[in-house]
Amino acid sequence: MVNRAFLSDRTRQDFPILHQSVNGHPLVYLDNAASTQRPGCVIEEISRYYREDHANVHRGLHALSTRATQLYEAARTRVARFLNAAQPASIVFTRGTTESINLVAASWVTARLRPGEVILTTEMEHHANLIPWQIAAQRTGAQLKFLPVTGEDGAGVDWDRLERLLDELPVRFLAFTHISNSLGCVNPIARICQAAKKVGVITLVDAAQSAGHSPLDVQAIDCDFLAFSGHKCCGPTGIGVLYGKSHLLEQMEPYQVGGEMISSVTYERAEWKPAPHRFEAGTPHIAGAIGLAKALDYLDRLGRPAIESNDHLLGRLAYERLRELPGIRILGPRQDRAGIVSFQLGRIHAHDLVAYADQFGVALRGGHHCTQPLMRKLGLSASARASFYFYNTTEEIDRLLNTLRSAADYFGA
Ligand SMILES: *Cc1c(COP(=O)(O)O)cnc(C)c1O
Repeated sequence: MVNRAFLSDRTRQDFPILHQSVNGHPLVYLDNAASTQRPGCVIEEISRYYREDHANVHRGLHALSTRATQLYEAARTRVARFLNAAQPASIVFTRGTTESINLVAASWVTARLRPGEVILTTEMEHHANLIPWQIAAQRTGAQLKFLPVTGEDGAGVDWDRLERLLDELPVRFLAFTHISNSLGCVNPIARICQAAKKVGVITLVDAAQSAGHSPLDVQAIDCDFLAFSGHKCCGPTGIGVLYGKSHLLEQMEPYQVGGEMISSVTYERAEWKPAPHRFEAGTPHIAGAIGLAKALDYLDRLGRPAIESNDHLLGRLAYERLRELPGIRILGPRQDRAGIVSFQLGRIHAHDLVAYADQFGVALRGGHHCTQPLMRKLGLSASARASFYFYNTTEEIDRLLNTLRSAADYFGA
C-alpha cells in the first residue's frame, strides 16, 4: 500500500545510520523518544564548522572568532524563529532539557518561592521535570503537589481539575510535559498555560518530546519557560534550549558563573551581562548550536504539521496492531496519542523482550523510561517502548509485530 501521508519515502535516505544491519537484520530503530538520529546535512555542517570556522566565541577580534560568534548567534536567532519567540534574547543555550529545567529550578523557583507555596506538576513527568522541583521544595519549604494520572493504564491527566486546584492551592509555579515520554499522551499546553496565567502562576513546558514533532509557538502558548534537547530533534547531543520570557530572565540570577557571562569583574565582585549571555558561563557548545540550527532547518523544510500527523498515524497504527497480541497491556490513551507506545507483553520482563528484539535488529527501550513513580503507580517495574519518528515505515511496524509474536512463542507468554 503506497500511502502518500508517510514521510519515510522522502526522508529515509537522508539518515546514513539507518542503512545498516544489526545482528544480521536490517536495523529497525524504534528508540526515538530516547534520542533521534541525525540527517547527513547536520553531520556535515558540524564537520564543516570544525574544518573551516572554529574559534572561541565572543572574545576574539580575529576572523575565525568573528565567524564562529556570528554562526553561534545566528543559531540563537534560528531557535527563536523555530519557537516563534519574540526575540533571540529569550533563547538560552544549555546542555539539554535537564539543564534547562535545573536552571529555572535554581534561578527562579528556589530564589522566589516561600514556605507553604505550591509547585504544581503532574504524575507523568520525566525525572528531569520532577527531581529539580523536589529539591527546590526542600530548599524553600514550598510544597510539591501533583495532578494525578487517571485510568488503570494511565490515560493521562484530567486537566478539567486544573482550574479548581489553582483556585484552592497557593500555587506559584506549574511545570508539565507537552508529550509524555512513557504514555504518549499529548497535553493541551495552550489551555493549561492560559489557566495558569489568569491566576498569575508561572509555567514551564517540558517540550523534550514535542519540539521536533509538533508546531510550537511560545507566544500563542504563552508559557513563561519552555525546554527542549537538540538530540531529540535531529540535532547534536549536549545542546539544548531554555526559552524564557525576557522580563523573567532579566530578573534571574545566573545559574553558573565564570567566563563569558560577566560585564565587569574586580577581585571583590562581578556584574552580569544581560540575558541570555548571563546564563551561558564558560565556552558554550558552539558546534552543537550550529548543528542544531541545521537540524531545525531540516525539520521546517519537512514541516512540523506534516511530522506531527505522520507521528500520529504511526502511533495509531502501532497501537491498533499491538492490540491484536494476546496478553498485551498498552499504556496511555487510545485517542490523541503521539508516536510513542509503551507496553507489557504477557509476563515477559521488558528487559528480556528488548534484548530478544535486538537479536532481530529491532531497537526498543525497556525500563521505567525515567518515570519510575508513574510505572510504580501503574503497577509495573518496567515496560517496553516503541517510539517513532518521520523516517520510520509501516514495514517496520510489521517487523516489530513479527518480533513480538516470536518473542511470545519463545518465552511462552
Ligand atoms: C528526554 C526527556 C527529558 C530529558 O532530556 P535530556 O536530553 O536527557 O536532558 C526530559 N523530559 C522528557 C519528557 C524527555 O523525554
